[in-house]
Amino acid sequence: MNQTQAVVIVAAELRLFLRPGRRGGPAAVAVDGTSSLGHVVESLGIPLTELGRLLVNGEPAAPGCRPAGGDVVAVEAIRRPQQLPSARFVLDVHLGTLARRLRLVGVDAAYANDAGDDALIEQANAERRVLLTRDRGLLRRRVLWLGAYVRGARPDDQFRDVLDRFKPPLAPWTRCPACNGLLSPVAKAAVAPALRPGTWRTYQAFSRCRTCGQVYWHGAHSKRLEQIIDTAVRTASTGTSG
Ligand SMILES: [Zn+2]
Repeated sequence: MNQTQAVVIVAAELRLFLRPGRRGGPAAVAVDGTSSLGHVVESLGIPLTELGRLLVNGEPAAPGCRPAGGDVVAVEAIRRPQQLPSARFVLDVHLGTLARRLRLVGVDAAYANDAGDDALIEQANAERRVLLTRDRGLLRRRVLWLGAYVRGARPDDQFRDVLDRFKPPLAPWTRCPACNGLLSPVAKAAVAPALRPGTWRTYQAFSRCRTCGQVYWHGAHSKRLEQIIDTAVRTASTGTSG
């Protein structure tokens, strides 16, 4: 190491963001005396939304401070569960399955499969929703008030990651998986015209989406949906993983 380099030690949970050649251990990073810590961290590929504490030579430091040659910088991952003013989300276009799963357990998850980047940011800011995405470029946009990188390529992993990170309050079967609207109980007689005879005979408890009008009946859930809800409830009641 020389006096134009700092050593950056990245927490294990953040190493997936580093270039493959840098994942093994501490990285020597050139410092120019003008770049902020936040900039250095971001230039390694780590979105600032994923950042926890920063330590310089063992002392907590702000993202705005400037590392000097010879400094040892430790980069920690954001603490879980991450506190939110309210657990409301908007999901990027590639996260449709995750959106439906979050709705299934009652989490407010806005999603449109044709939303552009600007529209996503606008909705996140206007409605104070956390933007969930796997697009690191989107998380770098300075105008975005709050975002989070979703870990995992599979919806199962993504679902666990979001529940573990934010521990949102769960209320299964209260929200429409199709449109995110809230469900209201509805009398069987009121929905009779919408039901097939088999459904009419088998089920007694019904609810209807206040937004799109879709009718749901309880007890008709597949094993798969029950599994998804079980996973959510378990994740919500266990300790955090990072
Ligand atoms: Zn609906």
